[in-house]
Amino acid sequence: MDKILELENITKVFHLGSLLSRFRITAVNQVSFQVRCAEIFGLAGESGCGKTTVARIILGFEEPTSGKITYWRKDGAQVTRRDVWGTTGTQAVFQNPFETFNPLRQVDQYFFETLHNFRLTRGQEEARGRMDEALRTVGLSYPEVAGRYPSEFSGGQLQRISIARALLTNPSLLIADEPVSMVDASIRMSIVNLFRKLKEERRMSVIYITHDLATAYYVCDRIAIMFRGNIVEMGKAEEILMRPRHPYTELLRESIPEANPKRRWQRKTGIAELEQEEYLRAGCKFAGRCPHAMDKCKREVPPDLQVEGVFLKCFLYSSKISKEES
Ligand code: SF4
Repeated sequence: MDKILELENITKVFHLGSLLSRFRITAVNQVSFQVRCAEIFGLAGESGCGKTTVARIILGFEEPTSGKITYWRKDGAQVTRRDVWGTTGTQAVFQNPFETFNPLRQVDQYFFETLHNFRLTRGQEEARGRMDEALRTVGLSYPEVAGRYPSEFSGGQLQRISIARALLTNPSLLIADEPVSMVDASIRMSIVNLFRKLKEERRMSVIYITHDLATAYYVCDRIAIMFRGNIVEMGKAEEILMRPRHPYTELLRESIPEANPKRRWQRKTGIAELEQEEYLRAGCKFAGRCPHAMDKCKREVPPDLQVEGVFLKCFLYSSKISKEES
């Protein structure tokens, strides 16, 4: 198996609160997964589950408190974390394309800057050709973009431009953090289809971070479901999303039909009040909402299990495994 990225027991602790009432939040707890070459790996969960912190650690914006990350290039060579942003490394696309670009700067200036910083072209003509090639991959062209400001594009067009800019360096791995949550529903699928195209045509790997399980089901090969800093279920996307085993995945899946699942989820659970309480909870973080919670779920941390090829963190399955064994 060609790996492009491996996280081993990554933990990130934040110290929050005032001087007199400081407390620790384990935003990411012992997270381990691999991303394979030419694979779309989903990282899903509600807002505040730790998925963006994982992305920031992979991108080098945050240092993990403990754990190990290893990176490889498409050709199989291992690279250091410092090299990750190099010409064969990692690029990112963020949620709000209007925040990616300064409204007072012409969009093509960002492309010229990236090409210059990575020393990818010699001269303006070659640069324009390279930009045009990247823009055509996302269904646009250099003449459509040249000299125009961010406000002259729709959110969907600007997100495509953001992806095209990321493609300039021909990265091995693209981290897409909620890339379709702020674009019109009508063009969401065209953007997620782009990730498929990049995977198939360029053997690019994508980490697709989302709270939207409908697009995750459509685009991801494998998926990890996160809750309060922990991966609670992980495996093939179809298996996890069509046959969820973890009670949290089941509950998360119920929120799909809503036009804005994030808002519905927040309304349903009152998440702002719950978030801190759940992060600080001993035992299973989901015990306060789980319809199957047992006494030990409130006291003890659930074990990491492998059940029929799926990773699960839940006492429900440890008891089933022991019954099958006995
Ligand atoms: Fe529910 Fe217990 Fe499983 Fe947590 S460990 S999800 S509380 S059954």
